[in-house]
Amino acid sequence: MTEPTQQPVPSTATSDPLRILITGSAGFIGSHLAERFLNEGHTVIGVDNYISGQRSNTELFQEHPRFTFIEADVSYGIPYEGEKLDWVMHFASPASPPHYQQFPVETLMVGAQGTQNGLKLAHAHGAGFFLASTSEVYGDPLVHPQPETYWGNVNPIGVRSCYDEAKRYAEAITMAYHRSRGVNTRIIRIFNTYGPRMRPDDGRVITNFVHQALRGEPLTVYGDGSQTRSFQYIDDLVEGISRLMMVMYHEPVNLGNPDEFTMLELIQVLEKGMDTNLNVRFEPLPGDDPKQRQPNIERTRSLLGPMQPVSLENGLERTVQIARLNPS
Ligand code: NAD
Ligand code: UDP
Repeated sequence: MTEPTQQPVPSTATSDPLRILITGSAGFIGSHLAERFLNEGHTVIGVDNYISGQRSNTELFQEHPRFTFIEADVSYGIPYEGEKLDWVMHFASPASPPHYQQFPVETLMVGAQGTQNGLKLAHAHGAGFFLASTSEVYGDPLVHPQPETYWGNVNPIGVRSCYDEAKRYAEAITMAYHRSRGVNTRIIRIFNTYGPRMRPDDGRVITNFVHQALRGEPLTVYGDGSQTRSFQYIDDLVEGISRLMMVMYHEPVNLGNPDEFTMLELIQVLEKGMDTNLNVRFEPLPGDDPKQRQPNIERTRSLLGPMQPVSLENGLERTVQIARLNPS
C-alpha cells in the first residue's frame, strides 16, 4: 500500500494574477514580498515613506512593468486611485527596537491610523486585508512557547509599548473590521525574522552581530546573553504569508521558526559558520527586553501544512554572504 500523500497547500504561486498593495514595500520584509509576488506574475503597488526603509529596495523593482511605487505616509492616508485591488498588505511600521524607540509617536500612528487606512482601502475595494503583527504582542511572555491563545504580558507604558500596543490595537481594529464590516482579514504574528536586505544599521541582533563580525569588532551582547529568541529566515516567512493568503482564517497565526537560541548560542552558530572566534562586549540589557520567545506552531502547521524551515546555520550563511558584498 502506498503512503497517503499530503495535499499541496495552495499559495499565491498558483493563483490567478492579483493586484496587491504593500505598505512598507521599501522595508526588509516588504521588499521580499514584492519580489515574490512580481515573480509569480502579480501586480504590486508599493507604498512607503522611508522612515526605516531603504530607497535601494524600491530601486530593485522600479523598471519592472508590474511594479508601481507611491511615496506616502500611510498614517495620513493611502493615496491609491488605480484599478480594483485584491489585497492590501499592511507591513509599514518601524520594527527594530532602536527605530521604534526613536519614532514612538510615528510607530503608534502607523499601527493605529495606518492600519485603519489600510482596512478602509481594503473595504472600499472588496479586497483582502493582511496585517503584519508581531510576537511582541506577547510582551515578556509568562507562557512558553507562545500559542496564539496566550494574551500576553505587556507593559503598557514601557519603552517598547509604542510598538507592542500599536500592534495590539492593530489586531483589535482588524478583527473589528472583519466582524462588523465583513473585511476578509488575516493577522500574522511574526517572530524574529532575518535575512538579506536588512539595513546594516537596523540595530537588531543579527544585523548587529553580522556586521560587527565582518568589521572585526566585538559583538555587543545586551545583558548576560541568556535571553532567547527563535530566528526565522525570510524565505520561510514569505512562504507562510503566501499560503495564509489562500486559507480562509481570520484569527492570528504565529509565523516563526520554533528553534530557540540564547544570544550566546547565536554567537556560537555564527562563529562556526564564519570559522572564526568572535570577541564579545557585554552591555546593559535594554528596558522590558523579553527574556524568552518561541512560537508554538501547532495552529500554523494545521492551517498551512508542513514547512521545511531554513536552519539558523544556513540562513546565517546566506545573510553573511550578502552582507560581505555590502559592507557597512
Ligand atoms: P523595516 O523597518 O525594514 O520595514 C518597515 C517599512 O515600513 C520601512 O520601509 C518603513 O519606511 C515603512 N514605514 C514605516 N512607517 C511608515 C508609514 N507611516 N508610512 C509608510 N511607510 C512606513 O521592518 P521589517 O522588518 O521589514 O518589518 C515589516 C513589518 O513586519 C512591520 O510591520 C513589523 O512590525 C513586522 N514584523 C517584523 C518582524 C521582523 O523580525 N522583521 C517581526 C515582527 C513583526
Ligand atoms: N541584542 C543584543 N545585542 C545587540 C542587539 C540586540 O544582545 O546588538 C539582544 C536584545 O537585547 C534582545 C535580542 O538580542 O534580547 C533580540 O533583539 P532584537 O532587537 O533583534 O529583537 P527583539 O528584541 O525585538 O526581539
